[in-house]
Amino acid sequence: MAMALTRTEAARRTALLQVESYQIFLDLSTGADTARSRTEVRFSCREPGATTFADIDALAVHEAVLNGVPADPAAITDGRLPLPGLAAANTLTVDATVAMTTSGSGLTRYTDPADGSRYVLANCFPTAAPRVFCCFDQPDLRASVTVTVTVPAGWTCVATGEVLARPADGAAGIWRFSAVPAMKPNEFTLCAGPYVTAPADGGPESGGPQGGGPDRDGPARLTVRCRPALAGSPGLPGIFATVTAVLGYYEQLLGVRCPYDRLDIVFVPQLAPPAMQLPAVMYVSEPLLQRAADPGDGHVAAILAHEAAHLWFGCLVEAGWWDDLWLAEAMASYLSYAAATAVLGQPDAWAEFAMMGQASAYQADEMPSTQPISSPVDTAAHALTRPTPITYSKGAAAIRQLAALVGDEALRAEQDCASTSAGMPGRPHRWRT
Ligand SMILES: [Zn+2]
Repeated sequence: MAMALTRTEAARRTALLQVESYQIFLDLSTGADTARSRTEVRFSCREPGATTFADIDALAVHEAVLNGVPADPAAITDGRLPLPGLAAANTLTVDATVAMTTSGSGLTRYTDPADGSRYVLANCFPTAAPRVFCCFDQPDLRASVTVTVTVPAGWTCVATGEVLARPADGAAGIWRFSAVPAMKPNEFTLCAGPYVTAPADGGPESGGPQGGGPDRDGPARLTVRCRPALAGSPGLPGIFATVTAVLGYYEQLLGVRCPYDRLDIVFVPQLAPPAMQLPAVMYVSEPLLQRAADPGDGHVAAILAHEAAHLWFGCLVEAGWWDDLWLAEAMASYLSYAAATAVLGQPDAWAEFAMMGQASAYQADEMPSTQPISSPVDTAAHALTRPTPITYSKGAAAIRQLAALVGDEALRAEQDCASTSAGMPGRPHRWRT
């Protein structure tokens, strides 16, 4: 069992390290309950000779090598691999067997009872990245991430990077993805299995509206995937239309292009939350696809709008530690209500927020268990114990109140500042407000 990383420990690693890259090799074909995980981490140390630790929560570590010197896997305690005597520039390789469970955390598997097909999802939020690969798992140590995955025959694989190479259709083999800059370890994801691509408009499989690619002029490329049994769902065309509309709205409102050239939307079986947004990949739980078929039900559109907003607030910019978890959730909620009003045909969205979301926040605030929307927390788990209405709805209400006080234009000007002023191109590291 891995020990939770504390704010003090994270700050020490931040002061000591700059992580440059992760090269991750995953083999999902080794068995039903395990996967082989090999990671090469390159990082620099500002105090040569210092000691730190890397995070790995594996069933077995077969080999760990730091700068050519083997480390003893038996030294791993509480999911921490000691790294003594760091050089200015370091390379760490760790070869491990990791668990594939049905917990929804780390590498998660699902077997379709209808045909026995298997599906795999890597979910590293909030602190499960070490269950998939060896890393420095904290939100302010971002690095370039490259993944290579070996899958069984008949599987398709989706990850944050673009597909560079893949086996012939239906064949077992290796999928290689492009490097993605400035990723947090808990943003790492992939999903794999016999998914199919859904047609955008009921016609032949098209992969959705085109126009993406580097330096694109058009919108981000959308692709929707699901299990074969769901490919004819009447809710699918609405998914394309909703996400296309909200992406265009956010680009115009925020004055910042969608940070990714493409967005893969995957309907995942037995996903625990309704949906999750990661860089270039959105996961949606399957029951929402049935609900999306009802044109009078705006629930699914609201969720998609919330998740798409996380491409900017959560993926593009986010707080350096867990104190301000609320900010990404509150901004995503605020923007989703604005999008619902502006482009999703829901003129009463803010009234609904006042009656439902804001009311639940008032209720949570009157309980003895209430907490501020932002306050120092020692661990990720502590931040996640805040009542949901406080993090989401009270936070969104606070931003709406701010908009009422300073005006929409002034609010957007701050957002422009935040998204263009720091960090790697397109991937600033911290909020600037
Ligand atoms: Zn959210």
